[in-house]
Amino acid sequence: MKIDLNNFERFEARHNAPNHTQIEEMLAALGVSDIDELISQTVPEKIRLKKPLELPQPLTEYQFLRHFKTIADKNKIYRSYIGMGYYNTITPPVILRNIMENPGWYTAYTPYQAEIAQGRLEMLLNFQTMVTDLTGMELANASLLDEATAAGEVVHMFYGARKGAKKKQANKFFASNTCHPQTLDLLKTRCTPIGVELVIGEVADLDVTDPTLFGVLVQYPDTNGGITDYTDFIAAAHENGVLVAMASDLLALTVLKEPGKMDADAVVGSAQRFGVPMGYGGPHAGFLATRDAYKRQIPGRIIGISKDKDGNEAYRMALQTREQHIKRERATSNICTAQVLLGVMASAYAIYHGPEGLKTIAYRTHGMANLLKQSVEKLGFEVVNNGYFDTLRINTTALQAKAIRLLAEERLTNFRYFEDGNIGLSMNQSTDVSHIADIVDLIQDALGLNVAVNVEALAENIEIAVPAELQRESDFLTHPVFNQYHAEHEMLRYLKRLENKDLSLVHSMISLGSCTMKLNATAEMIPVTWPEFGQMHPFAPKEQAQGYQEIFKDLEAWLCEITGFDAMSLQPNSGANGEYAGLLTIRAYHEGIGEGHRNIAIIPSSAHGTNPASAVMAGMKVIIVKCDEAGNIDVEDLKAKVEKHSNELSCLMITYPSTHGVFEESVVEICQIIHDNGGRVYMDGANMNAQVGLTSPANIGADVCHLNLHKTFCIPHGGGGPGVGPIGVVADLAPYLPGHAVIDNNVGEKASTAVAAAPWGSASILPISYAYIRMMGGEGLTNATKIAILNANYMQSRLKDHYPVLYVGANGRNAHEMIVDCRQFKPAGIEVEDIAKRLMDYGYHAPTVSFPVPGTLMIEPTESESKTELDQFCDAMIQIRQEIQEVIDGQADAVENVLKNAPHTQAQVITEEWTMPYSREKAVYPLPYVQANKFWPTVRRIDSAFGDRNLVCSCIPVSEFEEAEA
Ligand SMILES: *Cc1c(COP(=O)(O)O)cnc(C)c1O
Repeated sequence: MKIDLNNFERFEARHNAPNHTQIEEMLAALGVSDIDELISQTVPEKIRLKKPLELPQPLTEYQFLRHFKTIADKNKIYRSYIGMGYYNTITPPVILRNIMENPGWYTAYTPYQAEIAQGRLEMLLNFQTMVTDLTGMELANASLLDEATAAGEVVHMFYGARKGAKKKQANKFFASNTCHPQTLDLLKTRCTPIGVELVIGEVADLDVTDPTLFGVLVQYPDTNGGITDYTDFIAAAHENGVLVAMASDLLALTVLKEPGKMDADAVVGSAQRFGVPMGYGGPHAGFLATRDAYKRQIPGRIIGISKDKDGNEAYRMALQTREQHIKRERATSNICTAQVLLGVMASAYAIYHGPEGLKTIAYRTHGMANLLKQSVEKLGFEVVNNGYFDTLRINTTALQAKAIRLLAEERLTNFRYFEDGNIGLSMNQSTDVSHIADIVDLIQDALGLNVAVNVEALAENIEIAVPAELQRESDFLTHPVFNQYHAEHEMLRYLKRLENKDLSLVHSMISLGSCTMKLNATAEMIPVTWPEFGQMHPFAPKEQAQGYQEIFKDLEAWLCEITGFDAMSLQPNSGANGEYAGLLTIRAYHEGIGEGHRNIAIIPSSAHGTNPASAVMAGMKVIIVKCDEAGNIDVEDLKAKVEKHSNELSCLMITYPSTHGVFEESVVEICQIIHDNGGRVYMDGANMNAQVGLTSPANIGADVCHLNLHKTFCIPHGGGGPGVGPIGVVADLAPYLPGHAVIDNNVGEKASTAVAAAPWGSASILPISYAYIRMMGGEGLTNATKIAILNANYMQSRLKDHYPVLYVGANGRNAHEMIVDCRQFKPAGIEVEDIAKRLMDYGYHAPTVSFPVPGTLMIEPTESESKTELDQFCDAMIQIRQEIQEVIDGQADAVENVLKNAPHTQAQVITEEWTMPYSREKAVYPLPYVQANKFWPTVRRIDSAFGDRNLVCSCIPVSEFEEAEA
């Protein structure tokens, strides 16, 4: 036998799960002879791509990791003292391995199904407790995208909270010029479109009696490192009806008087330095804390405590009525995907170190700054900032700074270089005395100084240098959770205990329509925690980040090939942020060609809630267009509305294939109508998994499209984030893509202001999508799309006799997802929620509930599930259908039945007395496979309304805890 020496193990076969036999079986079930026949019945001929994707030949996992290491090596990791919101931090290995590198945590979905998400919900409650405690505020959300966007959210929040006379006339927001430059840039982005005038200046010069002023942002410690007591300033602002937010730093707040004590109205910041690597800009958890009074205005997700059916404490997402899913264009923000995994890591860091451990780290960091200050003063330099926690701005001249920079880079060290010649240095958890000695030597050598400075001797007598009135007096993190897991075994077991409460992709398929929960391959994940990627500061000189730059360049080119676009921005750090960036790009383009008055966004009624919410943030007026019976956009209604508003038309936002899971035939015509009327077409790319290699947004006629790399391109969901939402654009929009205030991200001089804090957003997870494309190749990716469509249609064929399938294409086919209707069970008292909860008893996470149609489930299997898994899920759905029939037929009790009582817990079925009219076995082992591999929900059905009425969003402190126990 001849041996083919080039026959290597293909990654594609690991990712696209159904094997050859399974594919044949599924094709037979669908009555088609091959997969291309199915595809031609599904994807309209006129939008099909005419040639295959041109991408590099696929690599095996082994080849890829070896190749990628050579790219990683092109990142030169220098010791960073740059600061500006990003600091070296030490990820405790127990957190690195058990959270960051653990699919049990990173493959989970957003915790909508709370009964099987108690682990991460508990950790997010810990996160909120940590943030409220350290900032001294009453309420915090469960993460935002980054510090700068959190500051942007504050503008919206304060603007919406204006009262009295301010409500009519106040449209001015003031930001201190000592905020980080990337934050100021983002405020510009956020203010202009909604008609808020942004004033940047000295706080001392601000007239708080200005009747047009509604809000202020200051930074504490500020970007120069200075610390100021804002108590009097805030009091004066409040007297004039002006709200004040402070951007702050969680580590500093273990030492410094907390903003709550100064009566701040909101506090924003980043939890990065709590154990999350810098990663060249992200992802990290931004936070926003505020007063209880603003609980209905606060953006993002809030976790609250409620109770389950047995009255046991249980967690779930609170006050969801504020969110874009329900409120749409009246939502408090467009936040959907946030930074759950990074929030989980940061709270784990706080739990592992505890209040005392955090203080030790903070005092040491502060002490290093003190040591450096004394040392450089001995060299004759002055520290210009007024007080400090960890950062010094040193009064060097431009000439001196130049010499220092030259030598510093030779010695693999980065400082911050101010425009006026000053240098800035920020200390961090990893700084030790020898590093301070190195810095002193470096400055002396660079400037030819020879001053006797004995750093070690100085280090013997370092004291806290925060003025007494700015020192923190109150306790924090007094809840038991922050005080009992400091030994590694205790921590390890706590993390495992939480992980075990959550259902993730390590257990079973999560067929979340629209969210594309596909395989997050281990080989794709491995480079994420390589130090060459993790330890790069986002504002390090680009020459040091050549590995990253190469990845960006390739990835942009590949995504352009896949989407058909001319340029790509990797900056947006979620899908919704991509929508916002894309709309701003259209807006800037229209302004650029003298048509800045165009401000109407047309959005189909079936659109995802983020679409209208983003349009409003981008300063647009939303006009809704209807869908017809078949779920397609009503072209006549569209035409009428477009023609009526043709002079003000900015864009159409459209999802393709539609949120109904169908490739609409009329899409090309729809795009033409928009273009003919001077508008641009924004495509929501969440459904890109049905397009790759078969058609493309540009081919269909779109001008801009965001991709959800955390859906289609394998970045894991992280339990609700991180995400990456790059946007692709056609050539004439490219000059207006988002730029960056600190680092030139290659867009050019017409670049818009930024939509994220870092120049390339969440850079450190881009290797995941890079790896996916590089290991699949063009053919593999195209096959993935085909299999995704095959899997969905196979499930349709199995389920359609049991549940009506809504909205199919011209040939009775679905795209990569389908909607099954559950509304017909309502008369028997069975709601779609009951089916979702009952699936938990079968070991499954429900598909998407009630989007885009209330009372339905939207199922998207993806290509990464084998026929075995699809069949098992279908068996569960079919069995549930029989259980519903028993209720309809009166065989089962209308109230005490397996559906209404789902999910069932272990505690419930082992009770001595079982009073249900059905058996325990039926409750928890409804099919044989379940018995072999049971996943136990840890709480019974959670009462959401109770939690919203009695909002509790943080852990209870030890004192009250002990009282309660007594
Ligand atoms: C997921 C999704 C979004 C939002 O993306 P995020 O990354 O969660 O912000 C927008 N539109 C559709 C159709 C989606 O499925």
